Amino acid sequence: MLTSSAEILSQAQKEGYAAGAFNFHNLEVLQAIIETADAEKAPVILQITPTYLEKIGATAAAAMAREAAAAAKVPVALHLDHSNSWQWIIWALAHGFTSVMIDASKFPLVENIALSRQVAEAAHAVGASAEAELGHIGGVEDSVDRGNADASLADPTEAARLVAESGIDALAPALGTAHGLYMSEPKIDFARLDKIRKLTPVPLVLHGGSGIPDAMIREAIRRGIAKVNIGTELKVAWAGAMEAAMTAGEKEPWKAAVKAREAVREIVRHKIYLCGGAGKG
Ligand SMILES: [Zn+2]
Repeated sequence: MLTSSAEILSQAQKEGYAAGAFNFHNLEVLQAIIETADAEKAPVILQITPTYLEKIGATAAAAMAREAAAAAKVPVALHLDHSNSWQWIIWALAHGFTSVMIDASKFPLVENIALSRQVAEAAHAVGASAEAELGHIGGVEDSVDRGNADASLADPTEAARLVAESGIDALAPALGTAHGLYMSEPKIDFARLDKIRKLTPVPLVLHGGSGIPDAMIREAIRRGIAKVNIGTELKVAWAGAMEAAMTAGEKEPWKAAVKAREAVREIVRHKIYLCGGAGKG
């Protein structure tokens, strides 16, 4: 059932697990996420970035995600990931998204607060929820490669101010993780996470979850992360299975899609157990 992400995240926060937040890139990945969530009875967040909406067809993508979420037996939130434009926020809220993220982290704190507050008010007006980001999460973010050089970590005092003054429902603080695949050993600044956890009441989000060792993810959840974003690993699984099917001479699209869906399901299942969400929906 289509649910607000605030509801999913507050349950996760209360019970000490994390909701898996999975990016979908096409129909097979979407189906793999929903089928696995249903099979494992896990509440999940289905998310997509503005770039993907633009490239695969926004209206059709939103319609298939809404239908799939509504047909699921478990709670599913539909979330707009990494929007840096007001236009996409309004578009998503008008197309049934139950959650939106405004990424105003490149702006100075005061502007980040102002934009995040505007987005939170718009989302709340239609019963949806809002996520904001503080500090720069490195790597490729919605096709913009920021590199790791300008990644700056979230300041705990600023995090407290952003949450208190904007009214957002979830916060993604930059803790040292990066989007895309890691070129070197990923790091999470746990001491910083502890400080932010102490100063802010809202659920915290870990971006760049692909490729982080399982033990590190578990530790982050133990210290208060309530949403773990997984995108790149699903793309890699899908592409690997499609490539293998094509190389083997498969000409029937659905047969290749079945294999790709199974490969993505494996990753989703693993992440759901890793995050502790199985049986919670
Ligand atoms: Zn992200």
